[in-house]
Amino acid sequence: MTTRSLFLLPGDGIGPEAMAEVTKLIDHMNAAENAGFVTDTGLVGGSAFDAHGEAISEADMEKAMAADAVLFGAVGGPKWDGVPYDKRPEAGLLRLRKDMQLFANLRPAICYPALADASSLKRDVIEGLDILIVRELTGGVYFGEPKEIVDLGNGQKRGIDTQVYDTFEIERISGVAFELARTRAGKVCSMEKRNVMKSGVLWNEVVTATHAAHYADVELTHMLADAGGMQLVRWPKQFDVIVTDNLFGDMLSDVAAMLTGSLGMLPSASLGAPDAATGKRKALYEPVHGSAPDIAGQGLANPIAMIASFAMCLRYSFAMTDEAARLESAIAKVLDDGLRTADIMGEGARKVSTAEMGDAILAAYA
Ligand code: ATP
Ligand code: MG
Repeated sequence: MTTRSLFLLPGDGIGPEAMAEVTKLIDHMNAAENAGFVTDTGLVGGSAFDAHGEAISEADMEKAMAADAVLFGAVGGPKWDGVPYDKRPEAGLLRLRKDMQLFANLRPAICYPALADASSLKRDVIEGLDILIVRELTGGVYFGEPKEIVDLGNGQKRGIDTQVYDTFEIERISGVAFELARTRAGKVCSMEKRNVMKSGVLWNEVVTATHAAHYADVELTHMLADAGGMQLVRWPKQFDVIVTDNLFGDMLSDVAAMLTGSLGMLPSASLGAPDAATGKRKALYEPVHGSAPDIAGQGLANPIAMIASFAMCLRYSFAMTDEAARLESAIAKVLDDGLRTADIMGEGARKVSTAEMGDAILAAYA
């Protein structure tokens, strides 16, 4: 039987509550479908700091590196506001991203029919929306050198950040976008600012060349990132996969996310390069939301973002396409049935707890 290793890092705040609902699904899939998931659980963030003084231990880092996929909850909270900077909860996630070399951040924006009226956009603009933003996560202006504040000596200072992209970085991120497009509607739109940025000129050239060499079956278009932001709000359904750099992707993925509503609904995936020997990509799946300390421990957390992140894990790490689609349908069905956690509560709906939402999704899946 195939075994599939999952390393669970529930983290802090509502992280563990949301992860518990995924664990129910894993147990069911093992028992009823012979899925062969082997799980191990570690500590990250504030809970790891409390246990051993680091945001993630070396032992847990090794487990994360060895697993087929990592499921990550959320980290942080006011309890750890005073801890040293390099040991703060977020340092655990940054360490994972860096060591696992997770260069591709995937953020889907899906409109669940039952929630279409919760969007600030008109129903016809948003209904049926299913787009995927692929953001480069390890390069660009967030990491380029020089990066400093220089004292100019005349009462003036100069803040410097440098946008740097090399050919290989653009090739690998666009490769991910093209491959994902093949499993979807077959369209990629690449966004940069080639009219004012040299890195944008190179981005455009390399995406175009990668497409011509390996992915000519996919439809490729280009848009300036500012126009792209406008089009994303005007008529988002024109897009399938959007591929863009770290900075533009940071902003555009937040815009795309809010097209569809609550923070409690949004999953994400971060992928690394394929392993030379096995061809498997390192991968980490996490909800977009944080640890929400204000509602932690009260059964109020919406587990859908975490569960939808697990659906992405099924699809991208294990090619369990049918199971992923069934799980996403189960989420949609439970919403259609009118079940809501507090954050997405609306008129005439039935308010449920974190565990009740998880149980209902499991029942709809099973
Ligand atoms: P971080 O810095 O970790 O990203 P943040 O300050 O952006 O955190 P979150 O923790 O993501 O904030 O949440 C902001 C607020 O949104 C929370 O205080 C909570 O009220 C609400 N929220 C976030 N996630 C959920 C969820 N899964 N279910 C219900 N409410 C949520
Ligand atoms: Mg945040």
